[in-house]
Amino acid sequence: MKVTRIAYSARLNPGKYVALVEQARRLGRVRSEVWQRYGSTFGVGSGLRDRQVRDRWLADGTHVQFGVLANAWKETVRDAIADIAANMEAAKVDVRRAISRRTNDPGERKQMFIALRADQWASDPFLARQMRMHWKRGRNRTHDQIVVRADKYNTAVDGRGRLWLAVPGLEPRRMVRIPLSTTVTPTGTLRLILRSGRVEVHYQIDAAQMRSSQRPCGDRRLGVDKGYTEALTDSDGQPHGEQLGVLLSSESDRLKERNRRRAKLRSIANTAAQRGDHAKTHRITVNNLGTVKRDRQAARHRARVRTEIFTAVHKVVDKAATVIAEDLTTRFTSRKKHPKNINRRLAAWTKGVTAEALKSVSERRGSTLVPVNAAYTSQTCHQCGAFGRRSGDRFHCTRCGVVWQADVNAAINILHRAGDPDIALHTPHHKVKQILQDRTDRHRTRLPVQDSSPATTGRRAKHPNRSAKSNE
Ligand SMILES: [Zn+2]
Repeated sequence: MKVTRIAYSARLNPGKYVALVEQARRLGRVRSEVWQRYGSTFGVGSGLRDRQVRDRWLADGTHVQFGVLANAWKETVRDAIADIAANMEAAKVDVRRAISRRTNDPGERKQMFIALRADQWASDPFLARQMRMHWKRGRNRTHDQIVVRADKYNTAVDGRGRLWLAVPGLEPRRMVRIPLSTTVTPTGTLRLILRSGRVEVHYQIDAAQMRSSQRPCGDRRLGVDKGYTEALTDSDGQPHGEQLGVLLSSESDRLKERNRRRAKLRSIANTAAQRGDHAKTHRITVNNLGTVKRDRQAARHRARVRTEIFTAVHKVVDKAATVIAEDLTTRFTSRKKHPKNINRRLAAWTKGVTAEALKSVSERRGSTLVPVNAAYTSQTCHQCGAFGRRSGDRFHCTRCGVVWQADVNAAINILHRAGDPDIALHTPHHKVKQILQDRTDRHRTRLPVQDSSPATTGRRAKHPNRSAKSNE
C-alpha cells in the first residue's frame, strides 16, 4: 500500500518559479492533446497504451510542437493516459449496474463483466451503448503539473543543512534547483504541483516503512460512531479526536466572517469601478481580495483536521483488531458539487477524511474494517431496540426510560449490526425501519422471538424442537 507525501519549496526564487510554470503550461498542452485524441471509445477505450502513443508521436513528429524535453512529454503522456483510464473506470461502475439489471443469467453476466474489464466492450452493442452513455467525455484541466521520473532528478544538502531538489528545466542539462522546507528526501516518481508561488512535491512511499505501520493493532472488537464534536466514539464509551468539534466550528465562524468582509470589499470595488476609479478597484482586488493567503489558511486547517481524525482512528486501532463502522464510502449520486452551507460542507468533507483514515490505518496496521448499514443506529435504544428521542448529545429511550450518551448508544448499535441476520449492508432505509419496528412490536406483544440474533438462530438450527422439548 502506498501513501502520498508532500514536500514544499521554501523561499523559491521567483524567476525559477516562472520557468517551472512555463514548463507546466507546455506540458498542459501535451495533456490536452492526449485527452483530445485518445480520451474516448476509440483511444484508451480500445485498450490503447501510452507506449503506443509515444511511438506514434515520435513517428509523425507531434512532439516537436510542444517545446519540452523528451522525457517530460513522455512522462506526461503516461500520466494523462492513466487519468483517462481512471475516468473510464469510474464509468464502468454504472455499466456493471446496468449489466446486473439487464440479465439474470450468471453465464451471460460473467461474459459481459470480463469483456468490460478487458476493455473489449466496443464489439458488444449493449456494452458499447452503455459505455457511451455513462462515460462522459472529459477534457484536460491540469496545466500546473510536472511529472519527473525517479532517474531524472537529484537531491543535495547544502552547507547549512538545507535540502535542494534539482529537476530538469526546458533546456537540456540545465536543471532547476528548488530549496525544500523539509529534510526528508523525496523518492520515486515526483509530481510537482505549482500553486500560488510555491512548489508542492508529491511522491509516494510504501506504507510499510512508516513508523505508525509497525505499531500492532489491539485484539478487541469495537463499534465506532462518527461524530461532529468528537471524530469517533467507540462502543466502550470512549471518545477519540475530541478537538474536532472546536476545530470545525471555529473554522466555520472564521469563514462566515471572512466571506462577509470579502463581499463588502467586493461591493466597494464594484462601486469604485462604476465611478471610473479603476485605480481603487485594482488596489482592492490585488491587496484585499487575493487568494494566496486564503488558500494557505484553508490548507493549514485541512491538515489540522486530518491529523485529529487520523490520530483518533489510531487510538481506536490501538484497542481493536476488528473495527465496525458505518459504511462511509457510499457514492454521492447527486450532481451538486458543494453544499452552500459552510457547516454542511465541512461535515461532508470530514466524513470523507474519516472514511479514508479508517481504511488506510486498518490496512497499515492489520486490523479489519467491517462496514455496516448504520440506518437508525442513532435513533434506537441498544438495550431494548425501541425507537427513542435524541436531543443534543442525549438519547432518551421511551420504553426503558433510560438516557444514554447518544454517540455511545449509536456505537453499540453499530457493533451489533455486524452480526445482524436481517439487516445487510445495502438493505434499504425503509426496510430497516420495518425490521426494527417488527422487532419492537413482537417484544411488546410478547410473541416468541422468530429471529433476532445470530446466537438464537444457531441454537434453533441445532435444536429445531427446542420449544417442544422444554414442554416435556
Ligand atoms: Zn430501551
